[in-house]
Amino acid sequence: DTIGANLDRAVAAWPDREALVDVPSGRRWTYAEFGADVDRLADALLGSGVVKGDRVGIWAVNCAEWVLVQYATARIGAIMVNINPAYRAHELEYVLNQAGITLLFASLTHKTSDYRAMVEDVRGNCPRLRETVYFGDPTWDELLARTVPEGVRPAELSCDEPVNIQYTSGTTGFPKGATLSHHNILNNGYFVGEMIAYSEQDRICIPVPFYHCFGMVMGNLAATSHGACMVIPAPSFDPAATLRAVQEERCTSLYGVPTMFIAELNLPDFGTYDLSTLRTGIMAGSPCPVEVMKRVVAEMNMAEVSICYGMTETSPVSTQTRRDDDLERRTGTVGRVLPHVEVKIVDPATGLTVLRGTAGELCTRGYSVMLGYWDEPEKTAEAIDTGRWMHTGDLAVLREDGYVQIVGRIKDMIIRGGENVYPREIEEFLYGHAKIADVQVVGVPDERYGEEILACVIPRDPADPPTLEEVTAFCRDRLAHYKIPRRVEILAEFPMTVSGKVRKVELRERYGAG
Ligand code: ATP
Ligand code: MG
Repeated sequence: DTIGANLDRAVAAWPDREALVDVPSGRRWTYAEFGADVDRLADALLGSGVVKGDRVGIWAVNCAEWVLVQYATARIGAIMVNINPAYRAHELEYVLNQAGITLLFASLTHKTSDYRAMVEDVRGNCPRLRETVYFGDPTWDELLARTVPEGVRPAELSCDEPVNIQYTSGTTGFPKGATLSHHNILNNGYFVGEMIAYSEQDRICIPVPFYHCFGMVMGNLAATSHGACMVIPAPSFDPAATLRAVQEERCTSLYGVPTMFIAELNLPDFGTYDLSTLRTGIMAGSPCPVEVMKRVVAEMNMAEVSICYGMTETSPVSTQTRRDDDLERRTGTVGRVLPHVEVKIVDPATGLTVLRGTAGELCTRGYSVMLGYWDEPEKTAEAIDTGRWMHTGDLAVLREDGYVQIVGRIKDMIIRGGENVYPREIEEFLYGHAKIADVQVVGVPDERYGEEILACVIPRDPADPPTLEEVTAFCRDRLAHYKIPRRVEILAEFPMTVSGKVRKVELRERYGAG
């Protein structure tokens, strides 16, 4: 199916159910209204000369228009290009030219970002860019007034054609543009929703950015393929606004990367929100600490919370916990492989499959693997081998029971005095310390051991942070000596990507020198 055809089915099945709520502006759409506005925007795009295969950029924080653009571009076979809302002018210029974007949608402003000023700055260097349309601006109304010219008909679409270029988070380096088809992302959204039994009764609070696959696939496409409602709590992540939206919109599902859930749980007024309508949700994007998962189950009323593991290049989800998983599997693994997806664990050195229970690089194959990186055949060939296996760069264990555990990223592994140390294991352990709200463990260069272990800590109480002595005393006799952090740095916050991941590269650079 194409995304447009799938939306038509939702509109026919659930015309009067709510499809979309934009909390900051108070606007709401039923499926019938949403479908009609998508059609109107699709016509306006055709009326603007956009044809199948054209790249349409979207450089915006979360808002209802984002979702309309997502479905309208898919409907006419254009390729939507998600542009990171944290980008500055020169990064925008790179993407506009790299993807050959002809029409750009953008927010006007958000916090300190003046998007229009940045577009004006680079427009002269982007010869293919014909037009920019800003949300909440006369340019949007002008666009919508356009109609399909006489004789222009929408092109025939196939579900294997590209519909979207999504950039990876840039956690480990410069983001890469994954080119994805209708088949890739619509199926993935659908199956993610199946695993947590979405129906037209569900209302999904989406505080993660639409710019990233977590928002636009696991959120939007999972919702519309099951008749559920998408709820936008705020333009960018705000923990209090998120919990307020859950309460006021009576959401049944809540999304977030681990750091978002941690921020919500640590709100001083956390106990005052009514979260009784929640039943499920998704935590994903980076290692989900068992402690945090347990608190989400117990304190946020999310007994059926699900962990997903995946990457932008695989649409994104490869493995997920299921509705009926017990607490151990739900909190301690990233679940089982999704239907129609294959997973194998290989020795990164030899490429041979390892035994169950042994750590190695997770590789995945199936409908979910991207078409390739946009216009970068060499990078595509490095990531996807000739057998169509996507090499994820993640270390994982496939257990006897078929459940997968992520051990860490190959790039983050610390080698201290010849011993392999997985930061994840130490982080999991340190979450149990009463003075630690959030922690990231990285390796920094060391003359004696090659690498030494540094714990970057966000304290629960900034006035009473844990000392190095307290941390080492906590670890002694409970962690092998070579895993005990030799340095502790206290931080107020971590350097983050827009998708909410900690940029360990930056922590390594910051503390590695000294
Ligand atoms: P870049 O590739 O640009 O460095 P990125 O890999 O963070 O950034 P994404 O595609 O957003 O970009 O994220 C995919 C990665 O996120 C995975 O390869 C994995 O390392 C991590 N990840 C996702 N979900 C989980 C999870 N449930 N547990 C542990 N790690 C996860
Ligand atoms: Mg990656």
